[in-house]
Amino acid sequence: MITRSPILLQRHDETEPLPVPPAWQAQLAGAIRDPAELCRRLGLDARWHPGAEAGHALFEVRVPEAFLVRMRPGDPTDPLLRQVLPLGEEAVPAPGFVADPLQEAAHTPARGLIHKYDGRVLLIASPACAVNCRYCFRRHFPYGDNAPSRAQWEATLDTLRDDPTIREAILSGGDPLAASDRQLAWLVNRLEAIPHLTRLRLHTRLPVVIPDRVDDALLDWLGKTRLQKVLVLHVNHANEIDDAVVAACARLKAAGVTLLNQSVLLRGVNDSRDALAALSERLFEAGVLPYYLHVLDPVAGAAHFDVSDDQARELVAGLRDMLPGFLVPRLVREIPGEGSKTPL
Ligand SMILES: *Cc1c(COP(=O)(O)O)cnc(C)c1O
Ligand code: SF4
Repeated sequence: MITRSPILLQRHDETEPLPVPPAWQAQLAGAIRDPAELCRRLGLDARWHPGAEAGHALFEVRVPEAFLVRMRPGDPTDPLLRQVLPLGEEAVPAPGFVADPLQEAAHTPARGLIHKYDGRVLLIASPACAVNCRYCFRRHFPYGDNAPSRAQWEATLDTLRDDPTIREAILSGGDPLAASDRQLAWLVNRLEAIPHLTRLRLHTRLPVVIPDRVDDALLDWLGKTRLQKVLVLHVNHANEIDDAVVAACARLKAAGVTLLNQSVLLRGVNDSRDALAALSERLFEAGVLPYYLHVLDPVAGAAHFDVSDDQARELVAGLRDMLPGFLVPRLVREIPGEGSKTPL
């Protein structure tokens, strides 16, 4: 298990030249970024190395220690490892699998803003993620290296202010919680000054990948906002939810946050009725309701994760037999040009 260094827990002393970064930032900075190291740490034999290097060249490896410790060493089929280990298959072109499957580039009226659906907008609050998921539809997204500057945010905020039909701001990314609490508090403060906004939503994987992200500084700005708060986690397998994740969820709930989860249906990770049922049960133990189960977006490099529509429907029909209705996620696809996610 991760143990936090006592040094990192110390308060900032005015005599020190630099503030000590929060524990989660140190964990993020220390994430594994070398495919050979990932293989070595998980006890994978030399057979896996060339594929890991080839995939890494297309989309870099990033796996924080706190996520790694939930994997079974020596098991290349581990459902968490499958999500983050690059494979040689990523370099094999597959018909229909393209760089920008959602055509998001066509829906960005201002920097950092994606407005596709009525009443709600996505804000790219951070281009970075805590973990790089191999199936990610944004693996080729041209974020650039930096989030928008404050001046660019002002232009984006003007767009929201001028459109009273927008009720909800969704902080997304990348992962919005990869941004600092100082930046997020600033942004949320500006958002809540827009009278027609009523809800703040975060789409984030960080409380799962690095549970220490849910610290006092985060809960401070999140707890204070007048906006109603929804946090949509991204968990694909029950093994991702360890005790630290349960504790992080409890803290978020205590701050008045509604917790939902979205998953992606992934071959070799969660493509069985039992895996999906265990995920729903485990989510609910952590106080989280399943929201969406997405079929894979056809992004280049991810074809080996694909599950057919027929199998997807069959799996969810099976879930309906096993679980109460509130633990069955909605099976959806994102189709470019549609005004919402499309149920299958
Ligand atoms: C998925 C998505 C949303 C949120 O959709 P909901 O159905 O409200 O969860 C909003 N904007 C964009 C661009 C999206 O892709
Ligand atoms: S956390 Fe989300 S946005 Fe980031 S790589 Fe994973 S799936 Fe993509």
